[in-house]
Amino acid sequence: MEALITPLSSPPLSLYQKPSSSFSPLTTSPLFFPKPHKHLRHRIQNSKYGNFLDLIPENKSDPIKFDLNWLDPSQKPRLDLIVIGAGPAGLCLAERVSRYGIRVCCVDPDPLSMWPNNYGSWVDELSSLGLEDCFDKTWPMSSVHIDDHKTKYLDRPYGRINRKTLKMKLLSGCLSNGVKFHKAKAWKVNHQEFESSIVCDDGSELKASLIVDASGFASSFVEYDKPRNHGYQIAHGILAEVEEHPFDLDKMLLMDWRDSHLGNEPNLRVSNSRFPTFLYAMPFDSNLVFLEETSLVSRPVLSYKEVKARMVARLRHMGIRVKRVIESEKCLIPMGGPLPKIPQSVMGIGGTAGLAHPSTGYMVAKTLALAPILAESIVECLGSTRMIRGQPLYHRVWNGLWPIERRLTREFYTFGMETLLKLDLEGTRSFFDAFFDLNPEYWHGFLSSRLSITELAMLSLSLFGHSSNSSKFDIVTKCPAPLVKMMGNVVLDAI
Ligand SMILES: Cc1cc2nc3c(=O)[nH]c(=O)nc-3n(C[C@H](O)[C@H](O)[C@H](O)COP(=O)(O)OP(=O)(O)OC[C@H]3O[C@@H](n4cnc5c(N)ncnc54)[C@H](O)[C@@H]3O)c2cc1C
Repeated sequence: MEALITPLSSPPLSLYQKPSSSFSPLTTSPLFFPKPHKHLRHRIQNSKYGNFLDLIPENKSDPIKFDLNWLDPSQKPRLDLIVIGAGPAGLCLAERVSRYGIRVCCVDPDPLSMWPNNYGSWVDELSSLGLEDCFDKTWPMSSVHIDDHKTKYLDRPYGRINRKTLKMKLLSGCLSNGVKFHKAKAWKVNHQEFESSIVCDDGSELKASLIVDASGFASSFVEYDKPRNHGYQIAHGILAEVEEHPFDLDKMLLMDWRDSHLGNEPNLRVSNSRFPTFLYAMPFDSNLVFLEETSLVSRPVLSYKEVKARMVARLRHMGIRVKRVIESEKCLIPMGGPLPKIPQSVMGIGGTAGLAHPSTGYMVAKTLALAPILAESIVECLGSTRMIRGQPLYHRVWNGLWPIERRLTREFYTFGMETLLKLDLEGTRSFFDAFFDLNPEYWHGFLSSRLSITELAMLSLSLFGHSSNSSKFDIVTKCPAPLVKMMGNVVLDAI
């Protein structure tokens, strides 16, 4: 139940103040914390349990103001590449390929809308791509609560990606490189021997030598030739204005596996001990925080209702009273499972191409790093001096994105996911206790999926060495099946 109270005593400006930590954010954006809707400004949740779910998420973001090059389909333009989707993956690829004079059109129902998801990334991942200015805020350290008695501090800066800055940067590149945009939804993709076309919901038909599907996880254009036995990450996240919170402002909370908040919730406690969820939190200042209750991976997917119920219990236990829900998100990410059929006539990038990290669900930084590699393969085939079309083109681009070595390492990360699926709360705690004790080169590399197969093998041995006896028992008893599965897939990939 909600109640009306007196207006907030301090103006929202106070919420833009820098945190009191010695670490200053790389950039801050006033748009980052929009003013409340008029009708919500004075409302504060007042339910007996502090249930923030009663609050109406504002989720209001203005479209980006930008002059794009719009395509005129009636002119029957000659295109080399059509990219379906203007998410991080689609825009990054369009921007890259068009640098080389390739004629690109990006099709999206709303190319200028703000991306809806809250993205986090390790700072080094974006910095190595020259995108260090694309964070709203960075934290010099992260923390992981293994349980009530043990907390680990990770000496690796983490940041919240500034969606607007990143999107503007990619759009600017597209604009200067001559990328055309078409505001429509692609409905159907057709293929002929050396050409493909898409039919859009506005009745237009566009033709190009190659179609890249960057329409996200729900795509139906990319085909699979193996059963799709994904795990799923499911999470409920809110960017919230709170009365106060207990988080250190100079640390982001990567994982909180404590379950003391479920003491009075026997049903939730039992299910949490079998299928655990953790809290992820990015504290921006003393009143503004992004909170996300997350099931790292489950199969079948954990119920969203359950995730939200656990989050309510956790926030109540932590004394976090939510005044406003500025944004809310349902996060559902398919993890692991087989790659799409390789090759096939539609190319994929981002969520459609199996790029989500099978053990963590992270994908943005990886996609931004791999888009230039895929762009190179496309340019090699479609560039002015080469005329590679049809099957040889599909073969080159799919193998450019997924060479054998990358497929093998992905099998390993998927093995990681299969292992996590078998762990209960205690097993998961022991796993992360040992994992974050590893040499940072290993855990950094694993989370950023940049380890070679040899390094992954070394990591496994080291992880086993760092594990507690109960964890070793878990590994020995629960891992053989996923291990055999991984070996089978590795052999299939290699032949
Ligand atoms: C809530 C949430 C939070 C996440 N947080 C993180 C995170 O913190 N860090 C991280 O690394 N990863 C995160 N991920 C995972 C992943 O990075 C994101 O899902 C990312 O947005 C995927 O990028 P994408 O470009 O592949 O697809 P999307 O971002 O989904 O973009 C797809 C685009 O295609 C358009 N489209 C869809 N269908 C069509 C069609 N038929 N025709 C034309 N256009 C179409 C859509 O409108 C959209 O603009 C998160 C995922 C979710 C769901």
